[in-house]
Amino acid sequence: MIADAALPCPMCGAQGYMLEQGVDDVYFGYPGQWRLDRCSAADCAIVWIANRLPDDQLAASYARYYTHQARPPGVLETAFGRWIARRCATHGDRFAAVPFLFREAENRLIDMGAVPPQGDALVLDLGCGSGERLDYLRAIGWGRSEGVDPDPTSVARGVATGRRIRTGSAEQIPFADNAAALVLMHHVVEHLADIRPALAEVSRVLCDQGHVAITTPNPDAAGRERWGRWWRGYEAPRHLRLYTQGSLCNALHQAGFAVRIARTSARSVPFMTHAAARASGSPVDPAWIRWWRDDRAILAIDRRIRGGEAIGEEVFVVARKMPR
Ligand SMILES: [Zn+2]
Repeated sequence: MIADAALPCPMCGAQGYMLEQGVDDVYFGYPGQWRLDRCSAADCAIVWIANRLPDDQLAASYARYYTHQARPPGVLETAFGRWIARRCATHGDRFAAVPFLFREAENRLIDMGAVPPQGDALVLDLGCGSGERLDYLRAIGWGRSEGVDPDPTSVARGVATGRRIRTGSAEQIPFADNAAALVLMHHVVEHLADIRPALAEVSRVLCDQGHVAITTPNPDAAGRERWGRWWRGYEAPRHLRLYTQGSLCNALHQAGFAVRIARTSARSVPFMTHAAARASGSPVDPAWIRWWRDDRAILAIDRRIRGGEAIGEEVFVVARKMPR
């Protein structure tokens, strides 16, 4: 049992409060129920698991976790990715009027880190799984793309297809100092006990002026408000901490980074909505109407994001390593 009163926030020390309880692992079926607490400070407001599993059980909770696909990018995907990489490396140009283009542009920008490729420089995908993004990053113009993942099975599968992947963790990155121009952390930080040691390690492997691009579920998402304990982003017990846009910026500043892009994205609204609807037993739209409703749902959330509400399902932050 855990105490009723929430502990102080592990990031900023402000008072915590209980946000949800009785949260099941509805997505991967690890037995148990979890309680989630939240920081009361508006500029931090992270969410964390109050009754975190011990490390050995936490490792076991990944047993049925999804395995990464080993599909290489298609010709059209690569061509479109190059086009996006040339035209809109920042948030400015998002094709908002055309839902298909909007979604594709968001996928390319966020997956490539919104940093234009640099000739022979190294891009490092932390938590790369079997490394499907590595092919794509090379195809759009990065000279070297390598990955790191803690799961030996995923690493072996990726290496078997010729990708350059090393076994390691975000807290111990098996690369030399100043090795990389860009580090991607795509849905990684929510799995870490604490982001701070990982950011120090990322800073070590980045060259001067190198960038880190972080994508993570947003605890301020409109979907969390709507679905409560069924929200896909909780993913208890594997998501240990969920960072808001503000808390990520704070952590990056403290680690010596200058934030260049900080926003939330609506691109995964359909995925998150369908997952929560299925998990909670709510009706799921039939396929024939889904494409239409999905587009409207994305655009409705995106309009609110443009109006200043940080309510997209994912937080996306890009930051540059500052000289010491
Ligand atoms: Zn806090």
